[in-house]
Amino acid sequence: MARAASYVGRFAPSPTGRLHMGSLIAALASYAQARQQRGRWLLRMEDIDPPRERPGAAEAIEADLKRFGMSPDEPTLFQSTRTAAYQQALDQMKASGHVFPCGCSRRHLGHGHLYPQTCSGGLPPGRERRSWRVRVSGRYGFDDLLQGAYGQQLETEVGAFILWRADGQPAYQLAVVVDDHFQGITEVVRGSDLIGSTPRQLFLQRLLGLPQPAYLHLPVALNEQGNKLSKQTGARPIDPQQPMPALARAWSFLGQEKPPAEALASPEAFWRWAPARWAIKRIPAVTEIPANRL
Ligand code: GLU
Repeated sequence: MARAASYVGRFAPSPTGRLHMGSLIAALASYAQARQQRGRWLLRMEDIDPPRERPGAAEAIEADLKRFGMSPDEPTLFQSTRTAAYQQALDQMKASGHVFPCGCSRRHLGHGHLYPQTCSGGLPPGRERRSWRVRVSGRYGFDDLLQGAYGQQLETEVGAFILWRADGQPAYQLAVVVDDHFQGITEVVRGSDLIGSTPRQLFLQRLLGLPQPAYLHLPVALNEQGNKLSKQTGARPIDPQQPMPALARAWSFLGQEKPPAEALASPEAFWRWAPARWAIKRIPAVTEIPANRL
């Protein structure tokens, strides 16, 4: 099993609150996949958006994951400690001429969904740089392990996008690419709400000369209003003191075989049983599932 020896997976939550059903599903799938491959499973806190973060959330997420029987194989990586690496990647793309300073605010951009190229040939007189953007070109696609072929024509579907934000923070797209490489991630298992970001990430990997991991985008659970299940949209809270009901619900949401009673006795018992039973082919190959019962 050549692939098994080198498999590295990850769970990369933003510490905006405690673990909820949506994030538990992503954590469980990435963990099951890593354990089945006899690989490593890493945790990364995507804490580069201070206005959305809650004090103590990172510690609470890690503690909750442990209660669900999922402990990372290395100390957690905090993106807030990685600014120098993101800066270096930005500098590399500046040096290769792909990045330009942008002086536009939301007001300048209007409502179009593509960047109007206002600053791509140089800052207009009287404007100061607010952010850094990258010029895009080409079609970027990949073969998702669950969803199949997926791609985007970047000029027409995405447009020049932000690498460094006006508030001085690196953008998610840049940080995720730099860190997936830094942590040696070989396969990204995450929610389908991020599948539309993947072509941008492949593009940045190409510009930076980084290897491309494999991707598996899971179906995301929708509430009755058709919104992604999250704290903001009223996901039923999960009780980490009673981990088995939520663990079993997340497992069943992903279409997996019904666990025998002995596997439901404790998270430890569950994880002794689950990795060998985990089957990607049982996961519904759709991006969204209405899930009132979660
Ligand atoms: N931090 C992102 C989120 O919580 C996930 C990033 C990723 O898995 O690439 O939505």
